[in-house]
Amino acid sequence: MSKPTPSDLAMVPFVSVDNMMRLVHAVGLECVLRELADYIESDFSRWQEFDKTPRVPSHSKDGVIELMPTADAENYGFKYVNGHPANMKRGFQTVTAFGVLSAVSNGYPILFTEMTILTALRTAATSALMAKYLAPKGARVMAMIGNGAQCEFQALAFKEIVGIDTVRLYDIDPEATAKAAKNLQGTGLKVVSCSSAEAVVEGAQIITTCTADKQNATVLTDNMVGAGVHINAIGGDCPGKTELHRDILTRSDIFVEYPPQTRVEGEIQALADDHPVTELWQVIRGEAEGRTDPRQITLFDSVGFAIEDFSALLYVHAKIKDTDFFEPLDMLADPDDPRDLFGMVNRAK
Ligand code: NAD
Repeated sequence: MSKPTPSDLAMVPFVSVDNMMRLVHAVGLECVLRELADYIESDFSRWQEFDKTPRVPSHSKDGVIELMPTADAENYGFKYVNGHPANMKRGFQTVTAFGVLSAVSNGYPILFTEMTILTALRTAATSALMAKYLAPKGARVMAMIGNGAQCEFQALAFKEIVGIDTVRLYDIDPEATAKAAKNLQGTGLKVVSCSSAEAVVEGAQIITTCTADKQNATVLTDNMVGAGVHINAIGGDCPGKTELHRDILTRSDIFVEYPPQTRVEGEIQALADDHPVTELWQVIRGEAEGRTDPRQITLFDSVGFAIEDFSALLYVHAKIKDTDFFEPLDMLADPDDPRDLFGMVNRAK
């Protein structure tokens, strides 16, 4: 990108889906996952600096549309995201998103970006980052229940950040498993396709549940979870949309992003409001313990929190500097005299 002129300063860099894919390939997918995890870890370790609020949902019978805002002293960010489990059968994505990063100093947006791909990347980076603190030492095998859009990103992040060498796949739709197995060829992961949830968890030290269904589903029952396993539950993320049998929850030590949001949206909506949970930012800061016992069952009750998206927005903003992975968008009125907005409109006749 050439040096910005004064009129460019009123332009907002826009990262399209196409440019996000170019950026990911230029940096390297595995490298993006590692770097995103570093950004998220660094932001979780300065948790107190952020404005925090549960995301703002708008529910309908088909799904949910949510706004996820947060800010620190320098930047404000938000993501618009949907979750529509029935979409896939209609040929649409279950989850799509876009986001904005702004300068707190003048309120001007400084980045507008697609976040469908970025959400898959940040969710995978977050899952793997938390597993670094919670999974049993030397975990090499992960079971993945639900082989949809998020699946391969999760598998690769766990390979890069946790060091797994084998991923076992299961989906109620065998075509989804076949798609994921094909996509994971050549990544260095050993891929084992399984035909039932009972089979997929065999020998796995980590179980990721990543399904989409607008109901209290039971993709994992208590008898399928042995001592010492880490569960990365990312699909239960809405009121009335969970994946785990309640008995698993009462046997696990539960770790969450932001309790006021997770109590409403996460697996723990099935438990009492005062059921003990540990906040992950405290584990990352060394103020609370992660895994303490090889036989302990740890559960990351992931719902996705705004600070992870903020980290991802900061990351993309830094990465597109001095590249052409964006287009300048004419989103900001820029009259010569800031008070003469009317005159600017008149002169454009
Ligand atoms: P997707 O629709 O692309 O894939 C979901 C897959 O789950 C499908 O292949 C479907 O066949 C399978 N499935 C449904 N019920 C199942 C069952 N009982 N057993 C096995 N497989 C089953 O969706 P996606 O984009 O991969 O998202 C997966 C889930 O993760 C969604 O619920 C989404 O809301 C959630 N999500 C969470 C976060 C987070 O931060 N926690 C982020 C992104 C997505």
